[in-house]
Amino acid sequence: MRMLAIETSCDETAASVAATGPRILSSAVYSQIDRHRPYGGVVPEIASRDHLRKLPSILEQALRDADCGWGDIDALAVTRGPGLASSLLVGLSAAWGLKLRLGVPLYGVNHLEAHLLSTFLPENAPDPEEACPMLTLLVSGGHTALVRVDGPGAYRVLGRTLDDAAGEALDKGATLMGLGYPGGPAIERAARGGDPHALAFPLGRGGERSQPSGSLDPRLCFSFSGLKTSLLYRLRDDPGLARGDALKDLAASYEYAVCEALALRVERACREPSIRSLACSGGVARNRRLRARLEQIAAEAGRPVCHAPPEYCTDNAAMIAGAALSGIERDAAVRDPQDIDPVLGVE
Ligand code: ATP
Ligand code: MG
Ligand code: FE
Repeated sequence: MRMLAIETSCDETAASVAATGPRILSSAVYSQIDRHRPYGGVVPEIASRDHLRKLPSILEQALRDADCGWGDIDALAVTRGPGLASSLLVGLSAAWGLKLRLGVPLYGVNHLEAHLLSTFLPENAPDPEEACPMLTLLVSGGHTALVRVDGPGAYRVLGRTLDDAAGEALDKGATLMGLGYPGGPAIERAARGGDPHALAFPLGRGGERSQPSGSLDPRLCFSFSGLKTSLLYRLRDDPGLARGDALKDLAASYEYAVCEALALRVERACREPSIRSLACSGGVARNRRLRARLEQIAAEAGRPVCHAPPEYCTDNAAMIAGAALSGIERDAAVRDPQDIDPVLGVE
C-alpha cells in the first residue's frame, strides 16, 4: 500500500509518501518559521493562509521525491488534531478533496500518537515487540508527557505537565532573554560554551506536591511555570544577564534546568522493572543536551535508548503516514474522519 499523508496542525506544511512497513519514500516539509518570527510565536491567521499557499507544491514535491504519480496512491492520511483549528482545516479540506478525486480511503491521525510512534520510523528502528514496554518522553511545543508504550496503540500516560510544555518553556524563556523564536534551537545555540551551573533554576518540584487527575503519578508530573517566573525575576533584577558572556551562562543554565526537570522524572519512571527501553520524541527531543542526558540514564539503567531522528522530531508528515499505516495494520485506524475535534489519543 502507498499512503500519502498530510500534516498542517501548526506551522509546518508537510506531505509524505510511505509504503507498508512503514517505509518512508519521501518527507517534504515547509516550515513557516520566518513568517511568524516577527511576532515571537505562531499567528493562527498567518499559519492557515500559508498552509493554503504552500500545500499544493509540498504535495507535488512529496510525490516527485517518492517517484510516484497520483495514480500510485492507495490511501490518504491527515492530521485531525490536536492543533490549531484553522490550520487543521486546510489539511483536512485538501485531504477530503483528494479522497473524492482519487476514490481512495482517508484515515485521520492523532498528531500526538504520530509523535509517539515516530521512534519506529527509521529503517534501523527497534522492533516494537522487542522494545516494548517502552518509556517514551514526549516533548513537543504544546505537550510534555511520560508515556508507557506497551506496543503501537497501547499507551498509558504516567505523568504530564501541569502547566507549560517543555517547548513552551524554552520558547517563552528565549523571548525573555531576547533570543527570538523558536526558542529551543535559539537557547541551544546561545548556550554553547556557557556554564550550565552558573545559575540555579527550579526543577519544577511543585508538581510532586500536586494531586493530578486520574492515574497520573505526581512524582512523574512536570511543572515549568516556576522556572519561567524565576527567569523573569532574575532578568528584572539584573538585565545585564542577557548580554555578552553572561547570556551564554544564562542560556546554558536555563537549558540545563529544562533538561534536568525532564531527566529527573525519566530516571524515576525507568526504575519500573518491566520497562525494556527508553525513547524520546517531539521537537524538544532534537536538543543535544537532553539526548545526551537520556543516553546516560539509559546506560545506567542498562537499557537501550531509541531517539526519533531529528528530522522526525519536529512536525512532519512521515510520522502521520507511519501512524496511519500502524493503525491499519492493527485494524484500529480512523477512516474518513468527519470531525476535527482535538482528540488526545494518549489520554
Ligand atoms: P505539539 O506537537 O505539541 O502540537 P508542535 O507540533 O508545535 O507542538 P513540535 O514541532 O514537535 O511542536 O516542536 C516544536 C518545539 O520544539 C518548539 O517549542 C521548539 O522550541 C522546540 N525545539 C526545536 N528544536 C529544538 C532544540 N534543538 N532544542 C530544544 N527545543 C527545540
Ligand atoms: Mg512547528
Ligand atoms: Fe507536533
